[in-house]
Amino acid sequence: MDLGIAGKRALVTASSKGLGRGCAEALAAAGVDLVMNARGAEALEAAADAIRAAHGVQVTAVAADITEEAGRAEVLEAAGQVDILVTNAGGPPPGMWTDWERDDFIKALDANMLAPIALMKAQVPGMMEAGWGRVVNITSVSVKAPIPQLGLSNSARAGLTGYVAGTARQVAPKGVTINNLLPGIHDTARAESLDAGAATSAGITPQEAREQRLETIPARRYGTPEDFGAMCAFLCSQHASFIVGQNILLDGGATNLAM
Ligand code: NAP
Repeated sequence: MDLGIAGKRALVTASSKGLGRGCAEALAAAGVDLVMNARGAEALEAAADAIRAAHGVQVTAVAADITEEAGRAEVLEAAGQVDILVTNAGGPPPGMWTDWERDDFIKALDANMLAPIALMKAQVPGMMEAGWGRVVNITSVSVKAPIPQLGLSNSARAGLTGYVAGTARQVAPKGVTINNLLPGIHDTARAESLDAGAATSAGITPQEAREQRLETIPARRYGTPEDFGAMCAFLCSQHASFIVGQNILLDGGATNLAM
């Protein structure tokens, strides 16, 4: 399918690996020029080179921490105005409800709520002026089915979801769509570390933890960055202009929701 977005420019944050990388790859395959970001310069440059070589698009790589104001300023300056924004950052650590103090919450809110909001506030006005724009926020299945050990993530992502619910409807009249893409378990470093944590608390091996988790996923596999990127690129396409303010779950059927 021609997504109709060749020649557009996208900023994809936290995109040297994992789900952000999957989104960057799928947008590049649709002919979109990219601004990519991650903290580690080496992996970021390698990802940018691979995408340039595979898809022949222009890629600007900015190594910076997207959850900090200075890093965000650097990324936004290099990006200028883009047509497509995909927000992402690493997820907060797991733990018990008694583990977290105010500073832990502030860090999680900065990373997974306030950073994407700041990025939207920087980019959406220009998109509205142009009469076209697409924003996809990578959030989590925990928005629909909160995960007990991920209290920090549950809290921050709930806040972002609430913000997007109102904002998406306020900007839609100007041709800008904002949606959230909710990963269930996908085969990335984050999933590996979650499985390692589950293994430690249950006294089993990470492989056993993975096998137990697979039993809870009707599709009987973990998602891939490619699965995730394909949906992200579709949401950024010309075909998705009527999808507004949605929380779209990609989890192989693991969460059993009637609606
Ligand atoms: P991942 O494989 O660990 O990749 C994270 C990517 O983000 C890397 O490129 C990393 O590069 C970059 N990054 C992390 N923190 C950053 C920061 N502060 N500033 C800039 N770049 C940063 O993670 P993932 O699985 O793709 O997860 C992406 C998001 O989806 C996370 O928020 C995660 O919690 C959420 N999620 C994932 C799953 C899953 O199963 N994978 C499920 C639910 C939710 P550097 O380390 O070099 O910065």
